[in-house]
Amino acid sequence: MSDTKSSTPGAVNENRRRWLQGGAAAAMITVAPGVLLWRSPAAREADQAVTSAVRWGLLIYTSRCEENCSACVDGCNQEHGLKGHGRPQTDAQWIRKITLRDPTSGHVRSLPVMCQHCEHPPCVDVCPTGASFKRADGIVLVDKHICIGCRYCMMACPYKARSFVHEELTDQKPHSPRGKGTVESCTLCVHRIDAGGIPACVEACERTGHQALVFGDLNDPDSLISTKLRELGATQIRDDLGTNPGVYYRGI
Ligand code: SF4
Ligand code: SF4
Repeated sequence: MSDTKSSTPGAVNENRRRWLQGGAAAAMITVAPGVLLWRSPAAREADQAVTSAVRWGLLIYTSRCEENCSACVDGCNQEHGLKGHGRPQTDAQWIRKITLRDPTSGHVRSLPVMCQHCEHPPCVDVCPTGASFKRADGIVLVDKHICIGCRYCMMACPYKARSFVHEELTDQKPHSPRGKGTVESCTLCVHRIDAGGIPACVEACERTGHQALVFGDLNDPDSLISTKLRELGATQIRDDLGTNPGVYYRGI
């Protein structure tokens, strides 16, 4: 994946357009000429529509997620050009590491929380402009062009998954357009997925050897994620709310 240092407004807008169309916005990911990294059978061509035949999801093994590890957060920040401004309460954060402690046993679990890519997303229900939307393949996104920054979606999200962009942005990544005065959240690295890849957080976790994150198609009974969910079971956070998240947690 190229690590673009800066981009012109024209380049950002062009990528924004292609990204919103669900096209393969990113350059094809290569490790050498002609050698594709992560190209999966589910990769779509740019002119193919996104369909509900696929539902992308994550399975998180909390027992493999170490308390002091922030590889997924760091990978996300780098991929999308998210920078802190020394204001943790308002800095854009697409993944948070949280710690759960069992009050009885004292047992501690550390886990990443990002947009849960809900099947029934409250953020979409409350958005007055249609900026908050769900793709047919289950990925929940914000259209920066029509987001008016009202922040209703931030209030509606039960998972506190969304951030408001307060600052002027520089050095934007062309594959991950952002905008001051708009709201944003985890895109599940849609630019990578459309090119047949995996989210940056999953890749970063794999690099550590922890293998705590599994990405895949929840609609495919033979995918690794579906197989593990069937064999082992897992929990959706606040499943009582009826949002049916696409993110599952094992071990909580
Ligand atoms: S986790 Fe929050 S931002 Fe993501 S789809 Fe659900 S309600 Fe929307
Ligand atoms: S902040 Fe943007 S995406 Fe969120 S509800 Fe308002 S217009 Fe919709």
